[in-house]
Amino acid sequence: MKIFMTGYSNLPEKEFIENLKQNGITMVIDIRERPYSRFQKWTSIKKLPDILYKHGIKYRWMGGSLGGSLFWKEGDECGLFKETEQKVFLGLEKVVDCAREETVCLMCACGDFDRCHRSVIATFLISDFGTDVYDIDKTGAAQKVSLT
Ligand SMILES: [Zn+2]
Repeated sequence: MKIFMTGYSNLPEKEFIENLKQNGITMVIDIRERPYSRFQKWTSIKKLPDILYKHGIKYRWMGGSLGGSLFWKEGDECGLFKETEQKVFLGLEKVVDCAREETVCLMCACGDFDRCHRSVIATFLISDFGTDVYDIDKTGAAQKVSLT
């Protein structure tokens, strides 16, 4: 099973959609705690679901169970907090469930994969759920994530 990820960073709407299409994405799962952006207004939860829908892509917000503050990362070490571990794992299970029927892409704002909590999510998806994870870069190329 393949799960994609991406960070829209400063990409214009059109290129972002293009990158999703290029990789056959059928569902975007938003993992931002706050699904709004002052600079990238099109990424707001008030706009993005409609934009995606027009391109035949579904939208789901999961920032409540997969948001950045639920993970910690220090250098190469990363993990979950005891108190919210269960919530996060339920979130990850939902992602895997969705990926059985859809080509899923987890979306955050951060351009840099290594500094974003999606790198921690990728670690769990690979080690605990046995999925393959790919991060879509600015150019639309999908880079396979490997655990080091
Ligand atoms: Zn991020």
